[in-house]
Amino acid sequence: MVNITIVQKDDPVLRRIAQEVPREEIQSKKVQGIIAQMKQALVGEKDGVAIAAPQIGEPFRIFIVAGKIFNMAQSEEEGRETDAVFINPKIVKFSRKKVGMDEGCLSVRHWYGKVRRAEKVTIRAYDERGKQFERGGSGLLAQIFQHETDHLDGILFIDKAKDLQEIKPDEHNEKKL
Ligand code: ZN
Repeated sequence: MVNITIVQKDDPVLRRIAQEVPREEIQSKKVQGIIAQMKQALVGEKDGVAIAAPQIGEPFRIFIVAGKIFNMAQSEEEGRETDAVFINPKIVKFSRKKVGMDEGCLSVRHWYGKVRRAEKVTIRAYDERGKQFERGGSGLLAQIFQHETDHLDGILFIDKAKDLQEIKPDEHNEKKL
């Protein structure tokens, strides 16, 4: 398997407003190829829980949440959920309540900080087959939805974080988004 490089914070692709994917192109080879590469990149990062297309250098409005995030909320007996794909995602509802959450990012290695995020959000997006859906999330999932949609608008968590600190990998294995 080829290793997919995850771009780091000084790369300009992370600061661009990512482009919408035309709905009729969702099932194209190009878009499906980007999704496959994103999934592969995520598998390569043991502490990674989600990834946005710009993080592999593709300036499109796509992000993926690792199946393990959904599995955490389920009982062991239930089947494993696969990675969830969000194309042209838009958060359509934010809870008024905000919470300070510890955050890290695969593109800002070894830095962590606290970011105030809405505790619950509802997101609307297209899946990888081009079907529109809505999904609610709270806690970690809400944090992921907000962190990843920020990526698509050229925003990194370090723009918003408080108490940023560098923690060497052997001291820390927080989830990265
Ligand atoms: Zn990130």
